[in-house]
Order: sequence, then C-alpha cells, then structure tokens
Amino acid sequence: ASARARPRVLLLCSPCMGHLIPFSELARCLVADHGLAATLLFASARSTPSEQYLVVAASVPAEGVDLVALPVPTPADALPADASVRDRATHAVAASVPRVRDIARSLAATAPLVAFVVDMIGAPAHGVAKELGVPFYTFFTSPWMLLSLETYAGFLVMAKDAARADGILVNTFRELEPAVGDGADGVKLPPVHAVGPLVWTRPVSKDRDHHCLSWLDQQPRGSVVYVSFGSGGTLTWQQTAELALGLELSQHRFIWAIKRPDQDTANGAFFGTSHHGGEEDAMEFLPEGFIARTRGLGLVLHSWAPQTAILGHVSVGCFVTHCGWNSTLESVSNGVPMVAWPLYAEQKMNAAMMEAQAKVAIRINVENDRFITKKEIESVLRRVMKGEEADRLRRQIGELKDKAVYALSKGGYSTSALAQFCFG
Ligand code: UDP
Repeated sequence: ASARARPRVLLLCSPCMGHLIPFSELARCLVADHGLAATLLFASARSTPSEQYLVVAASVPAEGVDLVALPVPTPADALPADASVRDRATHAVAASVPRVRDIARSLAATAPLVAFVVDMIGAPAHGVAKELGVPFYTFFTSPWMLLSLETYAGFLVMAKDAARADGILVNTFRELEPAVGDGADGVKLPPVHAVGPLVWTRPVSKDRDHHCLSWLDQQPRGSVVYVSFGSGGTLTWQQTAELALGLELSQHRFIWAIKRPDQDTANGAFFGTSHHGGEEDAMEFLPEGFIARTRGLGLVLHSWAPQTAILGHVSVGCFVTHCGWNSTLESVSNGVPMVAWPLYAEQKMNAAMMEAQAKVAIRINVENDRFITKKEIESVLRRVMKGEEADRLRRQIGELKDKAVYALSKGGYSTSALAQFCFG
C-alpha cells in the first residue's frame, strides 16, 4: 500500500509547549513503531508565538508526521486582554473546530482514520469524530493522579469531558503510577492506556552544537546541578537572586536555564526601566559579581536550553526542577535525581509523588510561597549530590529509569497499550 493509504491518526494539540512535546512524541511513536501515518494539528493562541514554541514546532519530526498550524482566532472573536493562559488556549481550540472539521473530512477521504486524539481541552472537537465515526481519544499529558483526583476542582470539568471520550491515553507508565486507570468515585471511565513516558527524545536542531554540551564534556561525572523551572516558570526577583547565592554557596558546578523574574512581584527600582529580556537585561537581576565569581563553576543560559541533551549527559548529577510533568519524566527517563521545587498547583502534586511515592526526589518546602534561603538551597544540594541519601536517590531513580525503558520496549506495557490503541 502506498504511504497515502496508510491508516492515519489525527491529533489535535492546544497551544501549550508542555502539550506539543508529548503530542509530537506520540505521533512519532505511532508512525515509527506502529506503521501509521499521523497528522498533528496544533492550535495557535497568539499571532506571534514565543521563540521557544517555534523551536519546538520546528523540531517536530517530518517523516510520516504532518504538522499543521491552525489559524489564530481572528480579532473579531478575541478575548479580553487579561484572559488567562488556559482561557486563551481553550478559546483557540474551540475557534479552530470548523477548520479541524475540514481537515478531518479531507483526510478521511484519502485514508482510513484510526482515531482522533485531542488533549484535555479538545472536547469541543468531539462532534467532528462523531460525524466521521472515528474513535475519539483524550491524550492526558499530565500524570494520571491528577485526572483521578475528582476533588481537584479546577480539573473537574476537564476530567468529565475526558471521561466522555472512547478512551484515554496517559503520558505515564504503570510502574510509576500503578493506579493508572483507577477512577474517582462515581465517574465511569472509558478504557485508560498508560503509553509513556513519551519524552522529547531527539535533540532540537540547534541543541547539538550548544556550547553547554561541550562544557559538560569537560566536567566530572555526576558533578553538575541542572536548574530549570520549565518554559514558563519564574521566581520572584528576590528568590532568583537568593537561588544564585545558594548555588554559589554550594560550590557545585551548575547549568542554570534562567528566566526573567516575575515582574509583578519585582521591585521596580531594582529592574530599572528596560524589560526587553536581552542577554544584558537578563544579568541585571543576578547578584552583583555573581557571573564573574562563578565563571568556570557554572553556566547561566538565557534562552532555550537543550534540556533533554543536558539531562542525558553523564556529568549531570541532579535536576532542580519545577516538576512540570515533561521535565519530571525527562529526569526519570535519564535517571537523574531531583530537587523538587514546584511553583504551582499540579507541580506540587508531582513533587509529592516524586518524593513520597517514587522516592527519587527531595522536595523543597514551598508552602505558602515561602522564601527559600540560600542556606536551604545549599543544604538540599549537599543532600542530593553526596552521601548516603544521594546514593539511595541515585539507586532508586536508576531502577525507575530501567522500568521506564522497559515500559517502552517491545513487550513493555506502554508499547502494548499503544498497539492496542492502534489496532483495537
Ligand atoms: N524545555 C527545554 N528547554 C528550555 C525550556 C523547556 O528543552 O529552555 C522543554 C523541557 O525539556 C520540557 C518542556 O520544555 O520538555 C517543559 O515542559 P514541562 O512540562 O516540564 O513544564 P512547562 O514548561 O509546561 O511548565
């Protein structure tokens, strides 16, 4: 059969990078391991996407995966300027349904459509699948635990929408979340398949030559602390400065993928008037002399960090992370122990799961947004990098990594689950 006639999966992803990454990885697996073709539609919330988003979009594999950017909602149906990120994403997906319908119809005319997979806010596209008689799946890019917590008010509506699908795919694996598929009281669930960990496996094009990788080549094994709070996470300026001092105090080698501190909580005088986010700008919120004093000891990266390549490098000894689910899975998949520093809701749950259940992280106590001192930072880095506790964490995450690899191997749970999804 020609490639055109290959059974095809249609995927629809909302405009969030934390979703686009696992979605593109899912599409890649379906094509590479299960012989399907895939069309990945991604909604756009803004006419000028961020640089990071473009980097990711440009790296979605071309072979067998068609990537289609959906048009941005027109100004006529624009949201108020202060609309939340989630409202914007939901709106972008809902506004794109007519275009999705057209695409789905024309694809269905050329090849059998195996399934239509949407993310948690893709429910408005349910009708398109119904019209075409195609099974409708939700791909949940967060841990199962979040979906199963009904009491978790913000996700109640989404959990109910997800439960109306013909099936749910979850980016997790059984050995990490043995309860996957167990529902919450009173919710009747469709079949649930754990298909992960689907993490960003290929370096994005410009990652390979990134200077931090040749720097890592020169550092001793397991000696470097990698610090990142994800694509959007920011600390206050005071906390950013204190983290710098904590890193310095620890005297561990480090790579810090830094973001401009949260401006709302910033001291205006400290920032001055310029907010353009360029390299020099990026330095101004660090303690005076920090860059000079830590030269040779650490690297501060201001824009896109090649995170999966960093985590896969033998010189990296721990990951100070906000516990976004992609970052968490990437750390697990590379066997790197974590210092869990969650910033908002779901991340706190992930942090607790990594510390208490999986026992592969030490959690920083961030209750009530309390300030974390440089001494605490220095102390947690000491615990995670050296000594008995560090050995235990390393052993534990090594075992979990092996289980993750197994889940994705031929015969592993996640591979079988995906095969079942593809071929019924
Ligand atoms: N990421 C990266 N470089 C950066 C920032 C982020 O590679 O400088 C990737 C990271 O590897 C992960 C994703 O972006 O795959 C972030 O997703 P996560 O769920 O961890 O957090 P979010 O950004 O959604 O808060």
